Amino acid sequence: MTNEERLQQVLKTEKQQRNLFFTIAGVLLLALLAFGGFTGHRFYVQAAQRNADNRAAALSEALNASSSSEASASADSSNPLDPEILSLTSTHQMASDLQTQLQAARTNALSLSDEFHQEALKLEEERLAKERAAMLPEGYTKVTVSSSDLHTGNLIVVNKDYEYVFPDTEDYLSLLYDQEGGNYYLSSFEIQMTEPAASALHSMLGAYYDETLMEEILVLNGYRSPEESQALFDEDSDLNGTIHAEDYIMLPGHSEHHTGLATDLGNIITGEFIDSDDEVYNWLYEHAHEYGYILRYPQGKKLQTGIAYEDWHFRYVGIPAATDIYRTDLCMEEWVEMIHAYTAMDPYTISLEDGDYTLFYVPAGENETEIPVPENGEYQISGDNMGGFIVIVPPQND
Ligand SMILES: [Zn+2]
Repeated sequence: MTNEERLQQVLKTEKQQRNLFFTIAGVLLLALLAFGGFTGHRFYVQAAQRNADNRAAALSEALNASSSSEASASADSSNPLDPEILSLTSTHQMASDLQTQLQAARTNALSLSDEFHQEALKLEEERLAKERAAMLPEGYTKVTVSSSDLHTGNLIVVNKDYEYVFPDTEDYLSLLYDQEGGNYYLSSFEIQMTEPAASALHSMLGAYYDETLMEEILVLNGYRSPEESQALFDEDSDLNGTIHAEDYIMLPGHSEHHTGLATDLGNIITGEFIDSDDEVYNWLYEHAHEYGYILRYPQGKKLQTGIAYEDWHFRYVGIPAATDIYRTDLCMEEWVEMIHAYTAMDPYTISLEDGDYTLFYVPAGENETEIPVPENGEYQISGDNMGGFIVIVPPQND
């Protein structure tokens, strides 16, 4: 064997050995891969099984939870993946949804029919009220007034919702200074009110002095023009902010002071409004109605009056109304609303010392309004500034 042949021999052996190594390594690798794949597959199968088990448990739970269902009761719950059960479950869900929708529709229908009935009832009541308002009690006749008169009288309501309608003249006003004598003070000689309101205020403050011999009341104001209202509102807005101004001061047209029926009372010593701690307030609170005055913006009535508690603002409405408002604890808005329910045939009665006063309401017609009044006797008609007239019939002297 030549050297070359020997060399060839060695190389060949090495090659064979290398091939053998790679073959063995390859086989080992394949075995490893196969084993790994098998293990992985096993894990995969286990996970899938666990997953399926979980779903089965959840479905079974859902089926058990769905109450009063024949479908779930009769179904084979040991096999929750049964397509039939899945289909029944979804049918059950649909049925339950429909039931909810049906219930909602029924509730809606009930409320609609209720609304319809309410509406029909309201129309019928209005028709009957009109018919009844047209009927005349014995001894009554009818007078015709212009419907525009509903903006005048002692019982007009002026507030945020009901604007004051100014008359063409200021004839309805008189100077408070013209009332003779008096143990009280005026903040100005120019203060004006309607004559009945001025003379009632004069009597009221006179009575307070007679009882207490205290001379501290200062009449701050009475009638207020729209310009004065605007100036007051602006001044208060600047000083205390718009919210405060809106709480206490009505915008021009909506101030009760336009009517000449309202006044703000103060104290000459403090120079401020009177307040609920003052003796004069307590006296007025108890006696104002005897002179036809009411505390117009009482505590706890802001929702109805639109104005916060004012223990200094008094409003003239006449003795019968003032007494009844005092007795019933209603604010003026509530009281007038209450009177709206009474007719000449079925009037409201206020008992005073001199007898029974009867009151009733007549809604205003388009241009003219026919109002039942006693044929031979006294009566007062006042607009309410809202849509009708309130008639007051004093005790009739036989
Ligand atoms: Zn006032």
